[in-house]
Amino acid sequence: MKKLIAGNWKMNGSLSANESLLAEIKAGLVNVSTPCDVAVCVPGVYLSQVQSLLGGTSIAWGAQDVSAHEKGAYTGETSGAMLREFGCRYALVGHSERRQYHGETDLVVAAKAQRALAFGVTPVVCVGETLAERESGDTMLVVKRQLAAVIHAVGHCVSEVVVAYEPVWAIGTGRTATPEQAQEVHAVLRAQLVAACTRGSGPRILYGGSMNAANAAELLAQPDIDGGLIGGAALKAADFIAIISAASVAR
Ligand code: PEP
Repeated sequence: MKKLIAGNWKMNGSLSANESLLAEIKAGLVNVSTPCDVAVCVPGVYLSQVQSLLGGTSIAWGAQDVSAHEKGAYTGETSGAMLREFGCRYALVGHSERRQYHGETDLVVAAKAQRALAFGVTPVVCVGETLAERESGDTMLVVKRQLAAVIHAVGHCVSEVVVAYEPVWAIGTGRTATPEQAQEVHAVLRAQLVAACTRGSGPRILYGGSMNAANAAELLAQPDIDGGLIGGAALKAADFIAIISAASVAR
């Protein structure tokens, strides 16, 4: 399976910073032979800029959220149709920062995934346990519950999503899951996805949580890690390219 490296810029960037960052990433990619799939998920206000800078390149782009609703009186939200119009291939859904700061429940996340698919945008469904949940031995229970809600909502279309396992305690903390810890969870998610899909090995499962240039190769070498969702390191072209290079070798 070809790996996918997706950057999550979070609430970072400016018109000029985005232009330089993407120029450096495009230039760096030229030196990667047969690169893996690459995407950047950017703040909504920059989608138009990113569409014009990345249109015609092999780098895809996406949003960091999508509305669970089709259209109408939902102030501040962005619909799947709007994302599609701006060429988004992906939309993150259920990132832990959205679950934590915006109260997104498993049901809301599932509805968002369903809505994205309906508009031809691939949802990158984020699941992951908090430190307290890991320490009380509930990791598998939590991630399986989060994923089950999405599977229940989208049915056999689950083969069209991307899943990202992001332990909350590893996001933006510099504390990465060990390759063994990540693989253990990915194997459980894989089994759940394969059981829900009618054929094939199911969707790609990315790891996210302080993945960087130094630890990417080891994580990406795990049999059930199909790529990475990268926060901080996606804002530095050299680091992002190093991760892409590691993913392009680890097939
Ligand atoms: C993320 O925001 O999805 C993420 C994985 O962040 P970081 O790489 O900075 O931990």
